[in-house]
Amino acid sequence: MNVEQIYKDASALLEGHFKLSSGNHSKYYLQSAKVLEDPKTAKLLADALAVQIKESGIKIDAVCSPALGGLIAGFALATALDVRFIFAERVDGEMSIRRGFEVKPGETYLICEDIITTGGSALEAAKQIKLAGGEVVAYAALANRGFCVRNGVQGEPKSNCKLPCDVPLFALADFTFEMYSPEDCPMCKDGSVAYKPGSRGN
Ligand code: ZN
Repeated sequence: MNVEQIYKDASALLEGHFKLSSGNHSKYYLQSAKVLEDPKTAKLLADALAVQIKESGIKIDAVCSPALGGLIAGFALATALDVRFIFAERVDGEMSIRRGFEVKPGETYLICEDIITTGGSALEAAKQIKLAGGEVVAYAALANRGFCVRNGVQGEPKSNCKLPCDVPLFALADFTFEMYSPEDCPMCKDGSVAYKPGSRGN
């Protein structure tokens, strides 16, 4: 499965000159919501991810996603794994589990995002699951931005990866893009101006 091509076909992998939320500049920008707007594509990706997870033999009782980014990927993955799906959401900046969702003691959870960058939100959702008595046995995302190391790939995580090393991360692809500080950005040096996706209402 060529995940990069699927993203390109859905106009979810944008090429240009982007200002990321970190303040760095990049030639590429990922808009996962675009790839998931077609339920058939969401199912295709989630099914492929579920195959990897099932092959690992790790028993998953439920999937939990941090809202908003992880909701569709998490729901599609839970459908493919035939397990429950719940989500965590931020309230006044703090991740919490609401809406009557119940985490039973000893239940095993997979935390699912659309894309894992440093894994910060996924880790916050995991903490809430653990506080409620659940056990986090895996992380998953459609794609990994290359700061953390996904299952089956050799390498050391970058220092800004927040996910624990002893819990596997499942992902379909690595999207490792070069990022530049504004001072060192070659596109800025060529005179182009970085664009911040989302700043025009999308
Ligand atoms: Zn730039």
